Amino acid sequence: MLSPPPVERLNLLGLTRQGLEAYVAELGSKPFRARQLLSWIYKRGEDRIEQMTDLAKEFRTQLAEHAEVRPPQIITAQQSVDGTRKWKLEADAGQAFEMVFIPEPERGTLCISSQVGCVLDCSFCATAQQGFNRNLTTAEIVGQVWLARRELAAAEVPAVGGRVVSNVVLMGMGEPLANFRNVVPALRIFLDDFGFDLSRRRVTLSTSGLVPQIYRLAEEVNVALAVSLHAPDDALRSELVPINRKHPIAELLEACWHYLDEQNGRSVTFEYVMLAGVNDSLAQARDLAQLLQGHPAKINLIPFNTFPGTRYRRSPPAVVRSFRDELLHRGLIATIRRTRGEDIDAACGQLAGRVIDRTTVRLGSKVIGLSVQS
Ligand code: SAH
Repeated sequence: MLSPPPVERLNLLGLTRQGLEAYVAELGSKPFRARQLLSWIYKRGEDRIEQMTDLAKEFRTQLAEHAEVRPPQIITAQQSVDGTRKWKLEADAGQAFEMVFIPEPERGTLCISSQVGCVLDCSFCATAQQGFNRNLTTAEIVGQVWLARRELAAAEVPAVGGRVVSNVVLMGMGEPLANFRNVVPALRIFLDDFGFDLSRRRVTLSTSGLVPQIYRLAEEVNVALAVSLHAPDDALRSELVPINRKHPIAELLEACWHYLDEQNGRSVTFEYVMLAGVNDSLAQARDLAQLLQGHPAKINLIPFNTFPGTRYRRSPPAVVRSFRDELLHRGLIATIRRTRGEDIDAACGQLAGRVIDRTTVRLGSKVIGLSVQS
């Protein structure tokens, strides 16, 4: 007789505290076992159930039979001359997603992905070129932080304020709010005292502006919000960030201020990629200032990072500085993002899931007319 096909074990990495409590109850254990498990997995980074020594032996045996801690598989790891590290992780055969670690004197930031590819088709972003492949699972989202911490500890990267990864930003591949269902539980695990225990100001979700999901997020979980604005008017923004046709700037900003009110947040960060001759004039800086004046906003100017096939060019540094100064003169808070990891294609907008070669993957994975799923 044929033996039954092997059943995939449940991945504990994808479960929130509530989910784990329900799961251990199913196995006939008390809720505190869930907190113990969380501490082992996230505080100590343990993935071997048999090593979780304060769990009863029978419980460990029972658990190991049905469940495991299964982080994503690393395909490649690269390190930049500036210390930035990038890992390519396996999604499915031929498909990958990426995460990037950016060390700075006062913090260590991990930039994680939420989807393989993206449906949004922003004209200046490398990820858009590959089309959309699929949503990452909660385990894959949480697994990036888990794995980075393990890899960085093994590489003896020094901790800052007790942590190697002190900040997590959802600014990698994909639109996090288009994968709402899997992203929200991941955020809960990042914030949970028994999980990664990150403060809400150190977890940032960046969105291109899915307005209904911003309202939903305000109800669900308390993290810092960043919004990819990139243009001061609807005509240009619709060209750069096509989702703007559905949710124009006024509607988007209203959702942002609502988000802050609901959450007692301090400010929203607006990302603005500087494209030579497209959105970098002083008149556009003035329009941008007018849009945000008097609101709790910070503007982060991002030097454009090129990739093969793009029609855009980076604004010269002097233009970026004048643009920033124009904003500062008008009382806004504006900073210029330092570009990191360019030599390993790890900078903003350069992440792409190519494993074979770009053309094959791009053509092979392009999905046309896929609606944004939430
Ligand atoms: N989908 C989300 C998160 C991913 S992008 C969002 O749109 O916010 C993270 C940031 O990098 C966004 O602000 C995005 O607009 C920006 N970005 C994309 N392509 C870029 C490029 N080529 N150069 C610089 N920044 C880029």
